[in-house]
Order: sequence, then C-alpha cells, then structure tokens
Amino acid sequence: MHLIFASYENNKNNINSDNMKLDDYNFAGKKAIVRVDFNVPLDENGNITDDTRIRGALPTLEKILKDGGSLIIMSHMGKPKGKVNPKFSLLQIKDAVAKALGHDVIFAPDCANAAEAAANLKPGEVLLLENLRFYPEEEGKPVGIDKEDPAYDAAKKEMKERQKEFAKTLASYADVYVNDAFGTAHRKHASTAVIADYFKQEDKMLGYLMEKEVTAVDKILSDIKRPFTAIMGGSKVSTKIGIIENLMDKVDNLILCGGMTYTFAKAQGGKVGVSICEDDKLDLARDIIKKAKEKGVNLVLGVDCVAADSFSNDAKTQVCSVMDIPEGWEGLDAGPKTRELFANAIKGAKTILWNGPAGVFEFDNFTAGSRAIADAIVDATNNGAFSLVGGGDSVACVNKFGLADQVSYVSTGGGALLEAIEGKVLPGIAAVKG
Ligand code: AMP
Repeated sequence: MHLIFASYENNKNNINSDNMKLDDYNFAGKKAIVRVDFNVPLDENGNITDDTRIRGALPTLEKILKDGGSLIIMSHMGKPKGKVNPKFSLLQIKDAVAKALGHDVIFAPDCANAAEAAANLKPGEVLLLENLRFYPEEEGKPVGIDKEDPAYDAAKKEMKERQKEFAKTLASYADVYVNDAFGTAHRKHASTAVIADYFKQEDKMLGYLMEKEVTAVDKILSDIKRPFTAIMGGSKVSTKIGIIENLMDKVDNLILCGGMTYTFAKAQGGKVGVSICEDDKLDLARDIIKKAKEKGVNLVLGVDCVAADSFSNDAKTQVCSVMDIPEGWEGLDAGPKTRELFANAIKGAKTILWNGPAGVFEFDNFTAGSRAIADAIVDATNNGAFSLVGGGDSVACVNKFGLADQVSYVSTGGGALLEAIEGKVLPGIAAVKG
C-alpha cells in the first residue's frame, strides 16, 4: 500500500497524490542523492551518544539500495559556519553509518568536489559526503559581513548566486533527489531546497521519515479527534507565541506551563520572586487569556509551583502559590495541584500535542511536572488518543522517563515541527512539491 496524503487545507506541508512517492519509484540503476539529518550528538572523543537520527533515515536508505540504486548521502553536522573544521567532520560517523546500513561506505572528503567519486559509484554502493556546512553556500548567508553594513544586500545577492551553483554541483552527482531531513525542512538551504530545482518533478521526493512527520503534523492540524489538548512549556512565551496563537483556533484545552507560568502569574498581579519572567510580555499574556475566553478555549495555567532558593538541583524548595512566591525564590517546577489540573486536561483528550517541559527537568528534583504530563499522555494514548511529542526538550523528557515508545509519535524536528504547526510552509517540503 502506498501512503497517500489527503490535501487538507490546514496543513500547508502535506504532499498530494500528484507528487512522486518513494514507494512508487524504482531506483534500480539510479544514483540517488539523499539529504538526511545526521547531525548526531558526539562526545568529546567523537563517539555518537545518540544515533536516533541515523536509525531514522535507514528505511529510506535501505529502500534505495534494495531497489538496486546507489546512494549519495549528504548532511550537515553542527555549526562550522562555512569553514572546514575537523570537529564537525562526518568522517567521525562513517563507520557508524556503515554498521547501521550493513554496507561499506565510501567517504568523499570534499562535498563540492565529489563528481568523480559519484560517477564511479556502482549499484548498491554508498558514498557519504563531507559536512555540507563546511561551505557557506549551503546556508546561503554571507559571511564576515554585518547585516547593518551597506554592502550586505549585494553580498547576500552574490551568496544566493553561489548557493545556486553549489546546489547545482550537488545535483549533478545524481539522477534523483530525496529529502529525508525533517529537522532542517524549515531552512531554505542548498541541499534542503535549492537543489530540488535541478531535478525533474518525477525525480524528486520526500523520504519515509519526512512522510511520517508530515502525516503526524496532519493529525494535529487537520485530522483532529476531540477533545484536543495542547501542552506548551519551556522557558519563554516570546518563542512560542506564534504556535500558541495558531493552536488557539484548534484546541479545546491549552496548557501553558514551564517558565511561561510566571509571566502569566505576574500579568495577573502575582508576585513571582526571581522566577523567569518576561516583563515586556505581560500585555501579551493578558491578551492570550482574553483570546482563550473569547474562543472558548479552556486555558490551563499553573496555580502552585515548586519554588527553589537557587537555580540548582540541590536548592532548598517549598511549594507555594504562583501568585505569591517569596522574595529571592523562583518557581522551577509545577506544584501538586497544578500537576493534577494538567493531568485532568490531558486524560480525556483524543488528540495531544506536547512541546516544552513543565519545569527545569534537567534537574532530577524538578521533573515532577513534566513527569505528570508524560504519564497522563501515556494513559490517554493507551485509551486511544493520538499523541505527538516534539521539540528537543520534550523529546529529551520522554526519553529521560523511558516513555518515548508509549506515545503515538515523537517528532525528530524542533524548529521544523513548530513552524509546520504554526502554519508556515516548510521550504524543504515545498521544494519537492509540483
Ligand atoms: P524552550 O527551549 O523554550 O522549549 O525551553 C526549554 C527549557 O525551559 C528547558 O531547558 C527547561 O529547563 C526550561 N524551563 C522550564 N521551566 C522553567 C522554569 N520554571 N524556570 C526556568 N527554566 C525553565
């Protein structure tokens, strides 16, 4: 069976039946250049500490090899800022990729000069290109020039031309382009978007991981089973406002937690001690409360918190109202009443989105709020809800609690997921669409 996406108007990133699907393509005798996200975390000795991203791309890579195609894998790693830097070399992960694939991997030490290596590839062979971001053309941003500089616009224009040339070079290595890097789909980079211009419509497509991500986002944006509960946490309102506003038209329950709690408490006249608080966002917080009322959204905010006398795991703690935190103390986690409120808004839900922790979960003594949310999501999922957990920190949370396999879908995308849910078009997806 092929995966056919319905064209829902809410999700601007879905793929319709006119687009080429990986399943429908026969890669036999073809050279496929595949953009993956192998930006895996490494320890100080260059060992991979979490290979989720490599495993995530395997189904796509295996399909191409199984068909009898040859593979050219390309990725970025870290932020080398357009310069060669061995610390970010993909050579460090070559053996791990070979092991995961069960295939030898040839390494091309210069991604922009790999034409010969690509030309020599035989069916079933795998070539891994060196970090794309060793070239500033990948990101397409001018380097060494300030945005305020009068010459910036000209430099940007010139870089965009160079980006096209770089993308054209990468494209020249292959017959077909596959984008399976959801984590960078919100970037219009040479390898994630511009390259697609150099392939015919029938020779460019999304990989399986991308298809899965798009389907998961669709369930949240278009295929909503009610009640729908969204949980937004993390540190600041300002970074989540776009998504909060977009969700307000869709959800039944909106839980706002984490550091945002204190901006809302202060906006309502609370004393928040030295808790994280955006004083310039108090009006915005009041506006969100007002909008929720107007739209009939059940806005669930923290009522009590675990306050600490310093920002540390070993700090002294006390449970207090979020409206009355003592001088010098800061709220670092949700309190027991709040945890119950959150769990109740999650329990009966049939669609759940979680982005951002409810406290400083990195400290073991301040995980209870996030844990209560994760447990309630697992319960709801067992009762038939669709639950999507996305964004680096909430994924880290479910991993920390060992619950990642008990929710419906854990997204690999941070920024890309948020932008998709905000209703933005992702350039990496738009580029392969007809
Ligand atoms: P974000 O990147 O905005 O999703 O925020 C994630 C970060 O928010 C995590 O590192 C948490 O430790 C942090 N965070 C959550 N709750 C609080 C809080 N009450 N005070 C300070 N930081 C918090």
